Amino acid sequence: MIIEPKVRGFICTTAHPEGCKAAVNSQIAVAEKYAGKINAGKRALVIGGSTGYGLASRIALAFGGGAATLNVMFERAAAGVRTATAGWYNTAAFEQAAEKKGLYAKSVNGDAFSKEIKERVIEIIKRDLGKVDAVVYSLAAPRRTMPDGSVCNSVLKTVGENFTNKTIDLRTGEVGEITVTPATPEEIDATVKVMGGEDWADWIAALTAAGALEEGALTLAYSYIGPKVTHPIYMNGSIGMAKRDLYYTAKAISKKYGVNARVSVNKALVTQSSSAIPVVPLYISLLYKAMKKAGTHEGCIEQMCRLFSQKLGVYDSEGYIRLDDLEMDEKIQKEVSEAWKAVNTQNLDEYADIAGYWDDFYKMFGFKFADVDYSADVNAEAEIKEA
Ligand code: NAD
Repeated sequence: MIIEPKVRGFICTTAHPEGCKAAVNSQIAVAEKYAGKINAGKRALVIGGSTGYGLASRIALAFGGGAATLNVMFERAAAGVRTATAGWYNTAAFEQAAEKKGLYAKSVNGDAFSKEIKERVIEIIKRDLGKVDAVVYSLAAPRRTMPDGSVCNSVLKTVGENFTNKTIDLRTGEVGEITVTPATPEEIDATVKVMGGEDWADWIAALTAAGALEEGALTLAYSYIGPKVTHPIYMNGSIGMAKRDLYYTAKAISKKYGVNARVSVNKALVTQSSSAIPVVPLYISLLYKAMKKAGTHEGCIEQMCRLFSQKLGVYDSEGYIRLDDLEMDEKIQKEVSEAWKAVNTQNLDEYADIAGYWDDFYKMFGFKFADVDYSADVNAEAEIKEA
């Protein structure tokens, strides 16, 4: 079939297998430059390893560190006229490349929150790897089905008060205002259930109980802090409450299970999850402009290669790994904050890297790669071998 992008709101409902392969291969090329410099574990479980930061973690660990990787994801295969999801194609491409290189790479597709998937993953670890020595927890999910069958939905709202600030309609390039309303206490609790640390702790508990986790294993989850302008919606918002919970979970599981559990604070980047957050896309497009001008811009793969090669063992006073150091650089933040005040619909291009935003957005779904022939008929089915 001929596959074209179909953008609906902040998501693209189609994905291109050849383009996703190009995206994965270009990340692999970056990671291969780190060969010999990444030593974060030889057998890694990546939960949420099909897109964004999780995929980049998997690529860095495998192609930069020679690790065997087992990935847990929630993706959809192609069916009839529907393409597969980008994460499906990414995973198929990753596993093909890993196989060529003689690297163990398998995936389990299903709900990481569930007991069944945890049990299946543990079975595979015991069968194929014995134990894992690194666990990356990179889930970004809108909802979680609880063991009793009830569903918690995460919300992107403020805590306490309304927050009004600039936002961008990326489709029209219009800069306007948005008011984000506060989450109810129930919504905050639900967001913490979905995006907080409880399920991360459940994974570590289950792996430990099954004897599938190496003593002193490294386990990481990802967070974001960002500048003041995003604090009401992110750090101090409902998602921030969940991220705070991750932080306390890291401390608790380190103590309880003897693992080295850390939260890495990553850079704001265009991913399927971040596109959905109010205010953040405008901030990202101003940030991209400033960081590209300064030559310090990084994508997911550069971030993850830097994490695993240079930042493990380097903590701030609270114990966080700070991969957002280049984003939070004073000069960059000053420029972004001035741009924030000045930007409007008329002068958008002067301050914001809208083209860069869209380029990342389309590439996430396998579109706009120069060396992919989008007029060619492609097979939308891509095989991922049963783990
Ligand atoms: P993403 O949407 O690209 O990736 C989410 C991953 O989770 C995918 O692999 C998806 O298949 C998987 N997933 C979702 N629900 C699942 C389920 N129920 N079961 C199994 N797998 C499931 O997101 P991302 O932006 O890479 O986010 C990963 C982490 O990084 C999140 O904790 C996020 O808060 C954090 N982070 C993101 C940014 C950013 O700017 N994007 C910045 C800092 C931190």
